[in-house]
Amino acid sequence: MAKILIVEDENKIARFLELELKHEGYEVLIAGDGRTGLEKALKENVDLVILDIMLPGLSGLEVCRRIRMESKMPIIMLTAKDDVTDKVAGLDIGADDYMTKPFAIEELLARIRVALNRKKSNSEPKPEVLKIGEVSLNLSSHSAFYGEEELVLTKKEYELLEYMMRNKNIALSREQLLNNVWDYEYFGDTNVVDVYIRYLRQKIDDKYGIHLISTVRGVGYIIKD
Ligand code: CA
Repeated sequence: MAKILIVEDENKIARFLELELKHEGYEVLIAGDGRTGLEKALKENVDLVILDIMLPGLSGLEVCRRIRMESKMPIIMLTAKDDVTDKVAGLDIGADDYMTKPFAIEELLARIRVALNRKKSNSEPKPEVLKIGEVSLNLSSHSAFYGEEELVLTKKEYELLEYMMRNKNIALSREQLLNNVWDYEYFGDTNVVDVYIRYLRQKIDDKYGIHLISTVRGVGYIIKD
């Protein structure tokens, strides 16, 4: 099972996360400050780091930057509520994702699964084709097909579809889709996700009478195998 390091100085949050992650079967390490966190991240053969930004000593951003100098391990930053500057800074220096406190534990768990999944798929040879039912993507030409018929998708529609198909069977939140498919200018405006989901549904689900994209109430969207 994956080994996850929590770098968080707020003891209550750290313990809560530890409990939840252990419950999911992960091995968990905790560091209460930036310096210890950095050391453990680099020495303990960690698979993923949950990294708070506001830390005593070395800040989370600095820890992230230094981890990235040596490792590509997935990093999920925890930021104070809606500090866009922190989010942008975190992603700029190589964090994979971020969560805004307070967050729902289910959403953090979903993001952990996505990040670990991505790590795994990065270390495996890249598949040329992604296929779910009749829908397939040619990853090298960035084209999508229903059966033999090519789907006419815009760049963003294709990217959204690819991201969802790569993370099939995981309920993806609007914020998560926004972070991973769109650029910084859309921070916070998750409406754009709903709009593009609608486009994809018109072009695939409605057109071919299938049910590719499902809505997960209170979370976001999912494509199931
Ligand atoms: Ca903190």
